[in-house]
Amino acid sequence: MVTHSRQSAVALAVLGLFLFWALVIDPTARARLPSTRQAPPAAPIVEPTVPPPSPAPVAAAPEAAAPEAAFETLTAQSGDSLATLLQGAGIAPVAAQNAIAALKEKWDPRALKIGQTIAFTRDENGVKELKLAPDFAHDLVLTRGADGSYMVSLMPRDILAVPLRISGRIDSSLFDAAEKTGLPQAVLSEMIRAFSYDVDFQREVQPGDSFEVLFDQLVDEESGKIVGTGTVAYAALTLSGKVQELYRYTAAGAFVGYYNAQGVSVKKALLRTPVDGARISSAFGMRRHPILGFTRLHPGVDFAVPSGTPIMASGDAVVVSAGWNAGGYGNFVVLKHNATYSTAYAHMSRIAKGIKPGVHVRQGEIIGYVGMTGLATGPHLHYEVRVGNKPINPLSVRMPATEKLEGRALADFHSQQQAVAKELASLRGNAIVAAASSDKP
Ligand SMILES: [Zn+2]
Repeated sequence: MVTHSRQSAVALAVLGLFLFWALVIDPTARARLPSTRQAPPAAPIVEPTVPPPSPAPVAAAPEAAAPEAAFETLTAQSGDSLATLLQGAGIAPVAAQNAIAALKEKWDPRALKIGQTIAFTRDENGVKELKLAPDFAHDLVLTRGADGSYMVSLMPRDILAVPLRISGRIDSSLFDAAEKTGLPQAVLSEMIRAFSYDVDFQREVQPGDSFEVLFDQLVDEESGKIVGTGTVAYAALTLSGKVQELYRYTAAGAFVGYYNAQGVSVKKALLRTPVDGARISSAFGMRRHPILGFTRLHPGVDFAVPSGTPIMASGDAVVVSAGWNAGGYGNFVVLKHNATYSTAYAHMSRIAKGIKPGVHVRQGEIIGYVGMTGLATGPHLHYEVRVGNKPINPLSVRMPATEKLEGRALADFHSQQQAVAKELASLRGNAIVAAASSDKP
């Protein structure tokens, strides 16, 4: 279950206290806990001097009916398999195999990760119950019934989406600012993707600019651990004093997208930069060719990025050509977006699987990887935008927006926008201290 509210945070705190109480104060509660996870990271805790009243007020909650055997816990080390772990704990090889065979119905035991914990109970026939978390969002539970056969089920864990606001001043680059403020990489990437239609991160981001983002942190309700990041609801960039705000919205029957405050989709027919984190190493125009030596038109833009960086299709397109180019472009892909526009991508280390003439690709789909094949002095993406067959400066293209919300969708968008604004206002209020420390250099 994923809930969106600030009450989640409160609920989490209450739950944490309950777990602390259950684990530390009431030793019998340990056996009632459904999972193998550890208690939440201990907040500064004062040793209680007065024992809690009994019967327990909170812990007498719903599923208090108690199992009998105590769970034993195993932790996978490097080189362990589930079989060696169970056998190491004294389970007979055949009995261990029976349990593992049953688990295979829902989980591949080869996916066991170092540090993963396995909780189990035993009886004279081997493993009676076993629990492990195959990923952050699920528990895998194995139980042996009265007839001796195993049942295995995959149970969703309760993951809370806790809204978090992070803002900061940009001193050198957005990347550095994100790192300083602890903005998760996934959120930064999402933000860059959303703004990349309109913002040239190389030229338009200046020291003194700032950013603000509202996103969900995914928190495991039981352990209190942060297990990932959810969606980015809002992102803003203030560039040279001008604020650009984007809101995430899913229109009925459409893909999720980002829209400006007026409900206009940021998605353009072409992306401005088909690679993440790019630095322009050579602009469009006349230049002396670094290898050929003479001056000629550089018909595209070079983005310096490490070899292997994924290259995205800058718009929905049909692949015109994909293969080796004898003219110096190395591994080369040309996409046709519509009757007017096509784009070209050169020097790839390799072309992505399935990218062949006639294939349809979606905007943002990976078509290849940066390299230095053909005439190139170092790894970079050479990117061209062509109108008809004539190359134009990709950075000068301002494509029209592809979608503007209207009618019911626009009203729905505005009410969602108001909810986000309210959330932001309250988080800004709560975050004066944190913001002050990250907003200032
Ligand atoms: Zn080039």
